[in-house]
Amino acid sequence: MVNTPTKMMAALLEAEWKPRPGYRTNDVEEKTHRTYFGGRVWYRPKVKIVEDYPVPKIGSKEVLVKVKACGICGSDLHMIETDKDGYMLYPGLTRLPVVIGHEFSGQVVEVGSEVK
Ligand SMILES: [Zn+2]
Repeated sequence: MVNTPTKMMAALLEAEWKPRPGYRTNDVEEKTHRTYFGGRVWYRPKVKIVEDYPVPKIGSKEVLVKVKACGICGSDLHMIETDKDGYMLYPGLTRLPVVIGHEFSGQVVEVGSEVK
């Protein structure tokens, strides 16, 4: 194991929660800003690079991976792209803000107490 840093660099996706005219959100969506219909509620998405984003705290069944390489795939790009009205193109499950990028590799630097 290596010393776990407290801050990391991250590409953070943000957008305005602004349901499209005609789309009625449910109570859970309004409470959590988590939706299965990203393209119907997220307006003007943008990515910013954050130099000092807090490193997540892991749970007992999780590991912390120090990312060495990370892909940016089509779903990430569709979360940034917008239609003519300014809404996110990605139609699926989203909750913002979120650190984008996946399909990564790296080094396990911390292991939860229940991980075998
Ligand atoms: Zn992907």
